[in-house]
Amino acid sequence: MGERKDTLRVIIAGAGIAGLATAISLSRIASIPNIDIQLYEQAPELLEIGASIALSPNGMRTLEKLGVDKALTEEFGFRGPSGIPQIFRHWKTDRVISVDTHTNVPNPRHHTTRFHRGHLHAALLEHVPRESIHLGKKLTHAEADKNGVTLHFEDGSSAQGDVLIGADGIRSVVRKSFLPDYKLRFSGKVFMRSTFDASLVEGKIPNLPSDSMHWTWYSTSTIPHIGGLLMNPGKDQYTTVGAYDDPRTEEELENSIAWDQSGNVEFLREKYKNWNPTIRALTELTPHTNLYPNFAGDALSTWVFDSRVTLIGDAAHAHGGAFAAGGSLALDDTLALGLAFRHVFGTQTSEQSFSNEKIKKALGLYSNTRQPHTARILRIVHNQIDKRGAQFTSAEEEDEALVARMRSRPNTEWLSEHDVEAAFAATLEQAEIIEASDQAQASKSTEPVSESSSGASTSIQLKGSKL
Ligand SMILES: Cc1cc2nc3c(=O)[nH]c(=O)nc-3n(C[C@H](O)[C@H](O)[C@H](O)COP(=O)(O)OP(=O)(O)OC[C@H]3O[C@@H](n4cnc5c(N)ncnc54)[C@H](O)[C@@H]3O)c2cc1C
Repeated sequence: MGERKDTLRVIIAGAGIAGLATAISLSRIASIPNIDIQLYEQAPELLEIGASIALSPNGMRTLEKLGVDKALTEEFGFRGPSGIPQIFRHWKTDRVISVDTHTNVPNPRHHTTRFHRGHLHAALLEHVPRESIHLGKKLTHAEADKNGVTLHFEDGSSAQGDVLIGADGIRSVVRKSFLPDYKLRFSGKVFMRSTFDASLVEGKIPNLPSDSMHWTWYSTSTIPHIGGLLMNPGKDQYTTVGAYDDPRTEEELENSIAWDQSGNVEFLREKYKNWNPTIRALTELTPHTNLYPNFAGDALSTWVFDSRVTLIGDAAHAHGGAFAAGGSLALDDTLALGLAFRHVFGTQTSEQSFSNEKIKKALGLYSNTRQPHTARILRIVHNQIDKRGAQFTSAEEEDEALVARMRSRPNTEWLSEHDVEAAFAATLEQAEIIEASDQAQASKSTEPVSESSSGASTSIQLKGSKL
């Protein structure tokens, strides 16, 4: 390994949405002639959690750029008949109190779309060679040195490469291997998610909206949400998502509720028994529920470790699904990585084309494009966690606070309509300015010392010595 000349070997830990999209982006966007991409996934088979996932315009545009066209079709994802990406209704009165809008999304195929996670995952999978995905490979730790990277698996085997991409989710083992002290923080909420046959609710609830909905309350128990029919085949699935506040600590939560553990549907019904009749009927007809304790982590200052390791998706930005942005952020990460690889390696044909220096440069461009953007959302997430537990003296006061909060909430267009290609171009421009300035400095310092410059340098020394 080391200064490899023939093939760039990329190993990806995790074959979730981020891992698969990374493989697609590196083969299609980067278009490097000699690249070998291998994915290592802990699961024994490729199945996704039976929950929904929403993608915003940025994620939809990126799917198109990656060539995953099927995911943009009407048959595949669910876009509500109103064309409004998110509608917020009052928990008790059921009246609409606010809506999100698209600002600059002329193509309806790029409008916010909801999928069954399994279907989106399957659409990505169609573009990744099956033989490059190694299942049942649970990573225990990762290492890197100047010669390459190594993944060690629970079954005693290992895998080597030149570049490592950690796409192994919010509890990333790759991240832990390079940042052992990094901690996640419990957001105070546990989500209760259910996906079931739409025939259980269709035609059975008077006035059930045909758009996705988000009914909301001020502080606790927010977000029973996503009414709406989902996805392929035949748009025959329905999903509900509830949340409750849990006062326990991180450690207590970790020891008591496992991710995706099945929950008690009676508990869900009890939580919403005083809400409006539509919500009550929805929770009554929801047949089962699974639990997802919600965690978030601080922004990482860099996403590059030992010059040849990086993180992507939830592993890089543990934002706990805030603004339903995780899927779209992960897709945009992969596009930025593909652009960075194309810029650094794509046109190179010389023998040194896969040098360590170039690997470091590509990962740096990627990190500089994505880290500031995702750090912004993480700041918002942590502010929200800090503001938990507002107290009100009456139901009216709480109600007023809810309506005021919904109407004055910050515009998140910077997130949902983010242009990752423009962000990459800006990063590149900045990097080129710095590189040019470094080169100018370097050539100045190697220039033969002229009489006048020798004089200048003497005067600085003299100045220094006077101080
Ligand atoms: C139930 C649920 C609902 C969500 N809803 C939304 C939504 O509505 N909108 C949205 O934008 N985002 C949503 N998200 C978040 C979104 O799905 C993620 O942000 C996005 O998919 C990126 O995920 P990822 O691929 O980085 O991580 P994951 O999806 O967590 O994938 C990580 C992969 O790595 C594998 N892995 C983990 N550890 C190891 C290991 N030690 N060794 C080998 N493999 C390993 C996992 O098995 C998995 O396949 C939701 C997430 C969940 C789980």
